Amino acid sequence: MQFYLDGFRGGDPDIRPAAPGRRLREAHDRLPDTVDVLIAGCGPAGLCLAAQLARFPGIDTLIVERKPGPIEKGQADGINVRTMEMFQAFGFAGTVKRESCWVNQTAFWVPDPARPEHIRRIARVQDVADDSSEMPHALINQARIHELFLDAMMAAPARLAPDYGWSVKDLVVEDGTHPVRVTLENTGVNAGETAAVRAKYVVGCDGARSTVRKAIGGEMHGDAAHQAWGVMDILANTDFPDIRQKCVVSSAREGNVLILPREGGYLVRLYVELDKLSPDERVASRNFTADHLIAAANRILRPHVLDVKEIVWWSIYEIGHRLSDRFDDAANHGGLPRVFVAGDACHTHSPKAGQGMNVSMQDTFNLGWKLAQVLRGRMAPEVLRSYAEERRAEARRLIETDQAWARTMSAPPGESDLDGTGMPRIQAQFIENLEFTGGLAVDYAHSILSGGAEHQALATGQRIGRRFHSAPVVRVADARRMQLGHVAEADGRWRLYAFAGAGDLCAPGSPMHGLATWLAGDPASPVVRHTRAGEDADAVIDLRAVFQTTFEALDAAGMPPLLRPAKGRFGLRDPEKVFCVDHKGAGDIFDMRGIDRARGCMILVRPDQYVAQVLPLDGVAALAAFFDAILLAEG
Ligand code: FAD
Repeated sequence: MQFYLDGFRGGDPDIRPAAPGRRLREAHDRLPDTVDVLIAGCGPAGLCLAAQLARFPGIDTLIVERKPGPIEKGQADGINVRTMEMFQAFGFAGTVKRESCWVNQTAFWVPDPARPEHIRRIARVQDVADDSSEMPHALINQARIHELFLDAMMAAPARLAPDYGWSVKDLVVEDGTHPVRVTLENTGVNAGETAAVRAKYVVGCDGARSTVRKAIGGEMHGDAAHQAWGVMDILANTDFPDIRQKCVVSSAREGNVLILPREGGYLVRLYVELDKLSPDERVASRNFTADHLIAAANRILRPHVLDVKEIVWWSIYEIGHRLSDRFDDAANHGGLPRVFVAGDACHTHSPKAGQGMNVSMQDTFNLGWKLAQVLRGRMAPEVLRSYAEERRAEARRLIETDQAWARTMSAPPGESDLDGTGMPRIQAQFIENLEFTGGLAVDYAHSILSGGAEHQALATGQRIGRRFHSAPVVRVADARRMQLGHVAEADGRWRLYAFAGAGDLCAPGSPMHGLATWLAGDPASPVVRHTRAGEDADAVIDLRAVFQTTFEALDAAGMPPLLRPAKGRFGLRDPEKVFCVDHKGAGDIFDMRGIDRARGCMILVRPDQYVAQVLPLDGVAALAAFFDAILLAEG
């Protein structure tokens, strides 16, 4: 990480200087009359969006939550590798890696044919495929993730904190600069008191029974019958040998259990599949207790025994596969969207694939930078339409995959045994789903934010529309081995990774030199057109160069100015723009990501880490056209 650009400052570098113009608020202060963005709900979706917007102190964000304070335990616990990559951009992946339990293997247990009342292990599968991500699949409680986002919000220049004890009751979209009129009701010390706040944009991250979704006329469609799950976090002793591995366990007659080892080395989560409910039935009518769940788990795990010492949290979790017909309000007035819904507010699915928390955060990571750039007058508001287009397609795919997986998991053991190739069907489908469950299958269709595939052959392992796949490099200035993708922060900036062709050391006249020079000085360059007076040269587009040689062969001090830009109040030169291949065996990024060694290429990456375009190093006209379609020149 980089700091001290504007002068030495002691203390924790993660705590950024507070912005002087930020809105100062204390707990229980009167709500403001107007804001730029009102976020309803402090679940993972709302907090991820708030953490993103808090980076931009010029944006006035209000996040309200009807509960009196943050949750302390329970709910979801799976963090897939894609979400970990996003956490890296927010600066807390290291903390999650240190604290969480990593899923390295998933074990499959089925009835033993010799003694069907007993289970036996039939397979183990590596959970994160080699080189699918540099990040682990992590398990940690949702409350801790909330806390990390709350810390990130408070450490950001806006010093943003939620207003607890306020529930969104209704909203209407009218005219004016702050067209969304939101009615809120106090659920805390002044219960029943109402307040009205006008917002430029409202984002409903208010969970499966979303008020915001209903207010814009959105309806959930999908499974009529709900599946009930018993879930419990326990401290226990057991002779079951795989208790510290993720396990999918199917018994002959007693149902299924999913075992997830958790943070801290002792805690374990069990999901016990309960009966399917009829459409008009609520799970409360069944009067399940924690003792029912423990007894069911013991029956399923026979001959092994689970001796539960403490039930930390338990719940009966009732969920269907459902998708909202609206992710924003554009259809209501035919104009540009002003109200959005994200997370469980617009899609729900079973916990079997562990996607709920992940997809909810990915929704708002997709929306956050777009809202920020539109509100800062940088990007055309038409781009906001892409949120619903991109995320609804992904939610639909999630539900379809989750339904298929749920069917396989719930199939009677006899039917689910083999897939015809000798591999247990459940194992085969689990392997097939790994890219999806890792969050890596997201694939945004061609649009103004995902360019055409004319030059995809220049980087076959960095598919346009998919997330930028990091790989090892060496930073030339200090010979540090690192992941290239870790230069990207959740700061709303575009990254332009320029990969040099063979023999290109950035000498004058070389393609790399030509690109850096054009970007810095040509009137058509997006850096020239969109970087405003007084801003650093990388404020909008952050150029990074990667060379095929060893770091000693490169003249870092002789690089063109855009690859060592003078920044901040002292005009300090940024030394961290130039990289080369890691020659010590961690892998060659050109080979690992299919980058054309002879020609090199440019890979343009969106602020949410998705590949927007692959172009030749001299494809500057296409680069300029891409940005001209979405960014606004200073007016
Ligand atoms: P949520 O986490 O539901 O957050 C929505 C927030 O909005 C809540 O804090 C809510 O209080 C608040 N809110 C609601 N209405 C309003 C309003 N009108 N105004 C202001 N605030 C409002 N997933 C799993 O994978 N495994 C599990 O075991 C599991 N257990 C769960 C148990 C429970 C009780 C719940 C509610 C969810 C569980 N989930 C589980 C689902 C998982 O937690 C969600 O998929 C994930 O949290 C979705 O994030 P979200 O931010 O979209 O919504």
